[in-house]
Amino acid sequence: MKPGYYNRYSEHLVKKFGEKVYKLPVNLPGTCPNRDGRLGLGGCIFCDNQGSGFDCLPNTVSIREQLEENKVFFRKRFNAKKFIVYFQAFTNTYLELDRFKENIRQAVVVDDLVGLSISTRPDCINDRYLDFLSEIKESRDLDINIELGLQTVNYHTLVMINRGHTLAEFIDAVLRIKKRGFEICAHLILNLPWDDITDVIENAKLLSALGIEYVKLHSLYVVRGTALGDMYEKGEIEVIPLEDYVVRVAEFLENLDPDMVIQRLVGKGPRADLLFSNWGISWWLVKQRIEDYLVKNEIFQGKKFDYLNGKAVRSFLGTE
Ligand code: SF4
Repeated sequence: MKPGYYNRYSEHLVKKFGEKVYKLPVNLPGTCPNRDGRLGLGGCIFCDNQGSGFDCLPNTVSIREQLEENKVFFRKRFNAKKFIVYFQAFTNTYLELDRFKENIRQAVVVDDLVGLSISTRPDCINDRYLDFLSEIKESRDLDINIELGLQTVNYHTLVMINRGHTLAEFIDAVLRIKKRGFEICAHLILNLPWDDITDVIENAKLLSALGIEYVKLHSLYVVRGTALGDMYEKGEIEVIPLEDYVVRVAEFLENLDPDMVIQRLVGKGPRADLLFSNWGISWWLVKQRIEDYLVKNEIFQGKKFDYLNGKAVRSFLGTE
């Protein structure tokens, strides 16, 4: 696909750092307040017990060893020279402040590091943790990016999927993170069974209005043994057809700020116990279908991005 239809993360990194940058995943034996009983038990209805760490090394391996092993791999395979450490699985700011600091300190000693990416939940963003990250950013001159799971702006759907937080907590986290100048990546699922195209458009508009820098899209996957898996097996939910999903992604992109960077257009599900993932085809075929649709229909990111800064009064201002 020719450039220009949407902002790709890999191209953004090359522009920003002058060459390709690779993410080194770290998988820690963490948990999540939505699983350990603090906010809820069982977690989000789609969450398997790996908390998105299914592509990582086992969490019994130390941070340093994980980073070294992954670095050797990327250097050998891609001749990689610059890296971002990515705390990926579970909720990486949901732990004692001292342990959090220790984890970050172990990560920032990696050679050729240009950034840190920390995945967490909106209700686990606290000023004291952010203060520490501000110190790290200044002392190490690192790009710091916080990844926030949101999944949808529809606060009724957030209850249905048992997120354990609402839209308000997401907005609060975004404002706190932005105050410190860190970048944000929001995670969304555009085909939750309780959402329709209106929610998809509002997802794009809210992220754009908040000035979020990155987004990761994921289609819904269903794992056996999860609450969602039970609903799926009992026929209580349906997943929309791929054709409809493609239209949703296109609509999302059209309404999105053209400057936002798409870190991921299509995700992969875990390998084991899958009841449904990407309509039974490979993730890259889903990506291809989306890209073909964009080209065929001349749809590009930001095509409908005209709704901020008092759209209704703009006609009074002329062209000045
Ligand atoms: S926030 Fe993440 S780790 Fe926690 S229950 Fe939800 S999906 Fe699982």
